Amino acid sequence: MQKLELNSFMQGLIRRNPGQPEFHQAVEEVAEKLIPFINENPKYLDASILERMTEPDRVISFRVTWMDDDGNIRVNRGHRVQFNGAIGPYKGGLRFDKSVSLGTLKFLGFEQVLKNSLTTLPMGGAKGGSDFNPKGKSEAEIMRFCQAFMTELYRYIGKDTDVPAGDIGVGGREVSFMFGQYRRIANEYTGVLTGKNLAFGGSNARTEATGYGSVYFAKEMLAVRNDDFNGKKAVVSGSGNVAQYTVEKLIQLGATVLTVSDRGGFLHDPDGIDAEKLAHIQQLKNVDRVSLGEYTKKYPGATYTEGERPWGVKTDLAFPSATQNELDEKDAETLMANGCILVCEGANMPSTNKAVKVFEKHQIMYGPGKAANAGGVAISGLEMTQNSMRLQWSFEEVDEKLQGIMKKIHAKCMKYGQEDGWVDYVKGANIGGFVKVADALLAYGVI
Ligand code: NDP
Repeated sequence: MQKLELNSFMQGLIRRNPGQPEFHQAVEEVAEKLIPFINENPKYLDASILERMTEPDRVISFRVTWMDDDGNIRVNRGHRVQFNGAIGPYKGGLRFDKSVSLGTLKFLGFEQVLKNSLTTLPMGGAKGGSDFNPKGKSEAEIMRFCQAFMTELYRYIGKDTDVPAGDIGVGGREVSFMFGQYRRIANEYTGVLTGKNLAFGGSNARTEATGYGSVYFAKEMLAVRNDDFNGKKAVVSGSGNVAQYTVEKLIQLGATVLTVSDRGGFLHDPDGIDAEKLAHIQQLKNVDRVSLGEYTKKYPGATYTEGERPWGVKTDLAFPSATQNELDEKDAETLMANGCILVCEGANMPSTNKAVKVFEKHQIMYGPGKAANAGGVAISGLEMTQNSMRLQWSFEEVDEKLQGIMKKIHAKCMKYGQEDGWVDYVKGANIGGFVKVADALLAYGVI
């Protein structure tokens, strides 16, 4: 069998998936680290495992028709990319955002396969969503859209088939609307979605899990260098689910959090965001649903800079937790010049591939999203377990399990990513996630 070569592999992938740059980017980052490993392990090479793992099991697209508050009929497009189900039911979030395209969901689904494998739980990878823009919509419009979306999606999902969850634009409210509709249509009460309300099958600590998990991962990275959060400055981007609980845990563990951000710009509070200020941010973003700029009215010592991201603020630690490609090569150079020692990704693929190269050149502690933000899907996996057992664990029990899982993910990254004097977490996460799925595919034969 001819050895794999990165450029020709990528040329083939780009030819087969035109106009999907985010998918190309996600695969390239993985393939770069995996190809040498596959070439050294002919069983994966001979069975064309990488070719199989970069082609989704199936892609489902559908029309979503709904009525807005003025009686206009609106049409959006919905998708579910069931990327790879080799090691368990498909699992991965739903994103509602005007930027959503098939290419976005393929990148997210592909990353999800490796991430879910890293959690050590039996979950395949998927991602779905719609180009529906929830911004400025009334609650009734959101509900009608969610119901219309689920009316089509329900035929492709199931507790042992595919279990979606939230992502950008899909929080507890949207999951509840969709779960209610699924239950009504299917006439069955099963854990077909995760991130549910605690009153009907949700797991304690699921809301907190991605943000907390990201900080627990950073804690493990720091521990390798006999370091911790005490006295460290941190910048966080985003102010949604992941960012809020990243900030909360960082405060609890002794860091000073200087920033958060939203689509309009970033908020810098040089005195540090404490628990009371975080509660105000949660009121602004989760309840009032307004710009972070409003924060400066209550806390005039802070500034809100429109149209910019927080990477220019001098910091020890950075937690990109908003969206993909929000940190480029120039931002990475700025962070390094300002003495940043750790970057931990709460978001999926927030750093461009060129930014990652800068982190690698400086050999900082860099935790890629598929490892660092896997706590969310891990607790979703535990929500499925609790639903099957028809019981609910306490917050403390789930939080303890989350810490254990993040430790295991970190150890897996170390196993495959330990280099001379530093840890290549990208290599560790990519190979660590790949092996289990690849071995399952090998065992199944030609499928
Ligand atoms: P939310 O919708 O709760 O929050 C997203 C945040 O990012 C908001 O502050 C939003 O700003 C900001 N944002 C979104 N798009 C952009 C953009 N194009 N430019 C600048 N800022 C933007 O989503 P989550 O917190 O759930 O997700 C954040 C990231 O974490 C995503 O990459 C997601 O895939 C990833 N992730 C989420 C998990 C989860 O459990 N929720 C699990 C694993 C990964 P605004 O307030 O203005 O809308």
